[in-house]
Amino acid sequence: MDEKLSENVRDVKAQVAALVALQKLDDEINQRNRRIQCLEELIQSEDKTINHLREGLSDRKKEMESMLKDRRAAEVTTTQKNEEAQRLGGQLFEVKTNEAYSTLQNEIQQKKHETALLEERILELMVAEDELKGKIKETEAELKQGEQQVAARQAEHKNEIVEFEKEISDFQAQWETAAKNVKFEYLDLYQRLRAAKEGKAMARIENDICMGCRLAIRPQAAIELKKYRSLLYCNNCARILYVD
Ligand SMILES: [Zn+2]
Repeated sequence: MDEKLSENVRDVKAQVAALVALQKLDDEINQRNRRIQCLEELIQSEDKTINHLREGLSDRKKEMESMLKDRRAAEVTTTQKNEEAQRLGGQLFEVKTNEAYSTLQNEIQQKKHETALLEERILELMVAEDELKGKIKETEAELKQGEQQVAARQAEHKNEIVEFEKEISDFQAQWETAAKNVKFEYLDLYQRLRAAKEGKAMARIENDICMGCRLAIRPQAAIELKKYRSLLYCNNCARILYVD
């Protein structure tokens, strides 16, 4: 009877130790997965920064196109109005009455006034185009520099990710080997707890506190645990308890 009991104790103790080993491997894996996630978020945010610059550049180029279009339209209208003024000027010699003459002259004046306004507008547009051209150049330089810096940083991040992934697959292989020492029912329970408890199936007891949920455990639990009769669980967070 005693022999059977001590065999059981040895068994439970070994199982707890094997589960703690699995948890340590899972901690390593989770830590690296979190780092990978951070790095992927960094890559995404760097992509966003570059896209933002690209959009800014594209907006400025569109603005430039529309300015050029406005200027060309104003130039065409100016030419037309000049031609009309010239044509009307030619008619001055043909009118018969003073009244018709002065009406025609008013019309010519009006065209010339409109032309002057258009020419002013064209000048304004040309000044604005120059300014915008400068801004486009600035944005292009900023974008180019940004792309180079981001490409270098992202290459580093991607290398780090590859390294972490290699380490994870090593730990994973160790995990698979270590899991062979765990009874199916315990392994099943461990995996369900791990999934439900953010990767932490095991909780260490320290000064009668469950380090999984930071709450006090039953006073007898630590003593019971050291007897290794069976697995013990935290009453509060349900994790499998262990002592160092
Ligand atoms: Zn707990």
